[in-house]
Amino acid sequence: MSNYDALGIRPVINANATLTKLGGSLMPPEVLRAMNEAANSFVDLPLLQRRVGERIAELTRNEAAYVTSGAAAGVMLAATACVLYHHPEVGMDFPQIASLKNEAIVHRNQRNGYDFAVQQTGMRFVEIDPTPRALRDAINEKTACIFWFEGRLVGEADTPLQEVIAIAKEHDLPVVVDAAAQLPPPENLWRFTGMGAALALFSGGKDLRGPQPTGLMLGRRDMIESIRVISVPNHGLGRPLKVGKEEMMGVLAAVERYLNMDHAAREAYCEDCVRMWRDALNPLPGISAERDYPNEANQPLPWCLITVDPGTLGRSASELVAAFLEGDPAISVFEVDETRFRLNPMTLNPGEEIIVRDACLALLQS
Ligand SMILES: *Cc1c(COP(=O)(O)O)cnc(C)c1O
Repeated sequence: MSNYDALGIRPVINANATLTKLGGSLMPPEVLRAMNEAANSFVDLPLLQRRVGERIAELTRNEAAYVTSGAAAGVMLAATACVLYHHPEVGMDFPQIASLKNEAIVHRNQRNGYDFAVQQTGMRFVEIDPTPRALRDAINEKTACIFWFEGRLVGEADTPLQEVIAIAKEHDLPVVVDAAAQLPPPENLWRFTGMGAALALFSGGKDLRGPQPTGLMLGRRDMIESIRVISVPNHGLGRPLKVGKEEMMGVLAAVERYLNMDHAAREAYCEDCVRMWRDALNPLPGISAERDYPNEANQPLPWCLITVDPGTLGRSASELVAAFLEGDPAISVFEVDETRFRLNPMTLNPGEEIIVRDACLALLQS
């Protein structure tokens, strides 16, 4: 009996996405080994954060790096850094931010649930329309930074990031890119900061497959230095966002693994899964299965879109999504609407694509 079984909880096969509510991703053996080893001894934690940061910075071609307790924590710390780096005297008194620079500019359509982390610092959002003019008009002496949420939220009409960065530079303003789920490609670890963004934030527990409660803050050294004084083991706004020695060593191992990984082979695996599912499911009456691209958070990997005819099957797509989860084994698939769902190979362990196919064949026969 597993520890999950003992709690009456069934493991789930994840054909959905790197969702926190499912546990994000699975840590590979290299990561688990690094965490296990780290658990064997005490260590100088601030020094470890510094050395791990230096190593991750070198690997990701950034000036500096810091391990956060997730990308959302990174969003909060980055917003803080945007004020603290030119007001180091504030330190623990950070809640007085309202008297300093307390405005973060954001494109209106990029507002999202994770951006609450910016407001947790006491900062407020100034929403802009997607024009360079609107951006210029919004900048004033209270502006601390510009936030950019990369991925599906970026509107076609939004001023391109490169231009946002150029305008920000005219005013010596930092641009922070939340790129939590923008891996693959691995090159994104240096792309945004290479374009001139001050900081880029990534989840350690999504496709990197590091520990779930980790994230990376990559970019300017002066900004990363500014948050150390308010972060673990020091007191201040960052103190509740603790990262342990096991997580630091685990995410470092995850970054090393990710940069050495054969991403072309991984993409080929995803294409093979989608082709196999399509070939197996398309002959079924009332079912159409097609390759869809890019996937959930705009990652450049294929997934499979399945359209069902509820009339033929006697069940809607959302009823099927629930049935997958109630099945044995339980499978989580991506719900779209009443007639569509998606299967994502990105989060599968090799071999599970067959289990997913067989579950589909069992459930989708009308
Ligand atoms: C997933 C995600 C986050 C949160 O990341 P965590 O590592 O779970 O804290 C933040 N922003 C965006 C855009 C995300 O997709």
